[in-house]
Amino acid sequence: MKRLVLLGGGHSHVHVLDALAQRPLASVETLLVSPHPHQVYSGMLPGWLAGHYRLRDCLIHVDALARRAGVAHRRATAIGFDPAAQRVFCSDGAAFDYDVLSIDTGAVLDLGALPGASQHALPVRPIERFIQGCNSLVEHVRARPRTIITFVGGGAAGVELILALRRRLRRHVREGRAVLQLISSSASLLPGHPAGVGRRLEAQLAACGILYYPDRSVAAFLPDGVILHTGEEIESNFNLVATGGAAPPWPKRSGLATDAGGFISVNGFLQSTSHANVFAAGDVASMVDHPRPKSGVYAVRAGPPLADNLLRALAGRPLKRHAPQQRALYLIGTGGHHAIASWGPFSWQGRWVWRWKDRIDRAFIARFSRDTPTEANLLHRSESESP
Ligand SMILES: Cc1cc2nc3c(=O)[nH]c(=O)nc-3n(C[C@H](O)[C@H](O)[C@H](O)COP(=O)(O)OP(=O)(O)OC[C@H]3O[C@@H](n4cnc5c(N)ncnc54)[C@H](O)[C@@H]3O)c2cc1C
Repeated sequence: MKRLVLLGGGHSHVHVLDALAQRPLASVETLLVSPHPHQVYSGMLPGWLAGHYRLRDCLIHVDALARRAGVAHRRATAIGFDPAAQRVFCSDGAAFDYDVLSIDTGAVLDLGALPGASQHALPVRPIERFIQGCNSLVEHVRARPRTIITFVGGGAAGVELILALRRRLRRHVREGRAVLQLISSSASLLPGHPAGVGRRLEAQLAACGILYYPDRSVAAFLPDGVILHTGEEIESNFNLVATGGAAPPWPKRSGLATDAGGFISVNGFLQSTSHANVFAAGDVASMVDHPRPKSGVYAVRAGPPLADNLLRALAGRPLKRHAPQQRALYLIGTGGHHAIASWGPFSWQGRWVWRWKDRIDRAFIARFSRDTPTEANLLHRSESESP
């Protein structure tokens, strides 16, 4: 009996679980190690914050998918592995041997190096903690005459989330109680996208009365402010951080080949360039032959070829090369039922873009929800699924 271990229930691994459910493998035991019973679909997180979706509309039930695939789910976090012994170590002290290992644990937002961040800033990842923090933020704003809220990060996530938060506050809090501001280290919003996207989003921020500080990096967080790299201090009572993700430290520490940022180096087969029985996809990986931005689109697209290659590796068959698409479509919500599309050098906006995004996002969730647990069996779920 061979053992396949999947680390993380991310966007690529949900495809792997789906593929295993459709083609169960005889003589292979599969184990998923991931801390949560579900995966919050990040594409719908701003829509949840804005109030368009209930949280349960945005969940992929990873444990239901695993059960359907006959895969045991250990609710734990991987903290490292020993490639020579082919053994993974988990946060709960458990260790598991593998024949083939696949890693889709995403990027991390480590604010440890930024003074004051751990006490005075809420990072967007892990998403589960961010959701709790947003709920308390609304209560915080309600209870005070005035709260200044600062978002750090001028990428798609930061801009979408601040516009969504503004919509949420308008619906639940009296006008004038919250001031929102966005700090971005780049000169324009969403660098890497066509200039029109940044301009359209700047216009949205201005129309919503959100203060925007381009070209500034945060040097430290204080209880009631942020200090910028210029030395300037800006008043702030609540700080949220949506800057680009970093690599988790444990793949490099475990001896895997990584790029300069610590992301796992993989070849065209999504296979580690240093260890042939280790595969990786999504934000945690860096394709050496086809570098692409970290994005859910590429993580999703890597899912089917990753599933195929894992099955091939387990069967000792030749692997198949994956060439990721050149361009990805980004659909960026602006708070209401309106969104901006970015594709290659083009951009569009309108309510129709929102409807398009909504359709794509709901279809993605529906695809993996065929066996979604009912409220009743969620309540009766026991830990007996753990190996
Ligand atoms: C607000 C927001 C909106 C976004 N919108 C879009 C969008 O519209 N389009 C787009 O393309 N991209 C979007 N992104 C980026 C997108 O979320 C990421 O690129 C995508 O999530 C990467 O997928 P992944 O599978 O690599 O990792 P993730 O989706 O982060 O999944 C990783 C999984 O692994 C688990 N895990 C983490 N560490 C461990 C560990 N050590 N051991 C075991 N399990 C672990 C996590 O709990 C999680 O389930 C958005 C990001 C944010 C924050």
